[in-house]
Amino acid sequence: MTAARRDDGGERYAARLAVARGAMREAGVAAMLIGPGADLRWLTGYGPLPLERLTLLVLPADGPITLIAPRLEAAGAEASPAVRHGGVVVATWEETADPYAAVARALPSGRSAGAPDRYLVSPTLWALHMLRLQAALPGATWALATTALRAARMVKDAEEIQLLREAAHAADAVVLAIAGGRLVDRTEADVAHEVRLRLVEAGHDEAAFWIVGSGPNSAEPHHEPGDRRIGPGEPIVLDIGGIRRGYCSDTTRTIWVTGGDPAFGPDSTFAGLYGVLQGAHGAAVAAVRPGVPAEAVDGAAREPITVAGYGAQFIHRTGHGIGLEGHEEPYLVAGNAEPLAVGHAFSIEPGIYLEGRYGARIEDIVVCSPDGADVLDTTPRDLYVVSGL
Ligand code: ZN
Ligand code: ZN
Repeated sequence: MTAARRDDGGERYAARLAVARGAMREAGVAAMLIGPGADLRWLTGYGPLPLERLTLLVLPADGPITLIAPRLEAAGAEASPAVRHGGVVVATWEETADPYAAVARALPSGRSAGAPDRYLVSPTLWALHMLRLQAALPGATWALATTALRAARMVKDAEEIQLLREAAHAADAVVLAIAGGRLVDRTEADVAHEVRLRLVEAGHDEAAFWIVGSGPNSAEPHHEPGDRRIGPGEPIVLDIGGIRRGYCSDTTRTIWVTGGDPAFGPDSTFAGLYGVLQGAHGAAVAAVRPGVPAEAVDGAAREPITVAGYGAQFIHRTGHGIGLEGHEEPYLVAGNAEPLAVGHAFSIEPGIYLEGRYGARIEDIVVCSPDGADVLDTTPRDLYVVSGL
């Protein structure tokens, strides 16, 4: 019934399913078995919660595509864009049925004579499902679907870039609100609570993380906000992000709180360190262009930090890909020769951390465009020196 099919991206999912099938045929794979998670959302637009009840897209290299779902989730599965578009059929299983046997039935029979069947599974499929699938499909060989999907998933189309941009702008609004608000004598946890509320208020569907590291805690990149009270004369590393219409934001700015007294401004060590960091961030952004290896962007950030004597205090990679997942490929790290391509989206987030004393980080989300970096976050990258009153 064509009239019942509304255009909600069905064509996009049909194209992605075709890409996956092409990669499977090339690799001699019998089928992909994709559970709830980013790969399922990318392939079908369907985003159920992972549960002990099996939901699984059975995507053979050839033949019918089946979305196996528990009966009580049939409505959501039927409403997903790829199913509404046609080409994916929902097969529901009753509470007492064996869904793993249903998976075996949904696979084309007589798949490969002689050689064991080869299946690709989504990396987030729970072990409890994986072990049952292995029992239902004895003698098969298994690998991650990432190998077949990564190249296509890394390249964001125009609509995905727009969604990432909108998410970035929502996070930027929160950074400005927090930096411009009261900070002195509040606990990190209290500020983090405000961050969560504001991320949603600014347009995210949910807050994803809310790092507020003050004083010596700013030297801990993934600090869990606690009951430490923020005082004048210390920095705060604010690293926040949420999910908006499926796509993630992730930005970091560093704030220095004076309490309104210029005597509590940043000391010369911190000011110097921050200047080095800004230079490193700018050098990494400038290094982005199609064809450049991901590790070269890491190298561009690391070089000025190392020259300034802080190489050992930059204790993490320069960035990670972002999209439907907060961390995905490509990773900007030494050893990753993956050439950047137009549409790759990733963070650039150098940091310098003096353990026990203080630290700083600057993070933007960047898309590789034909001319270089398209920086999605728009807030100033300077140190935010604020009274915090
Ligand atoms: Zn971050
Ligand atoms: Zn990040």
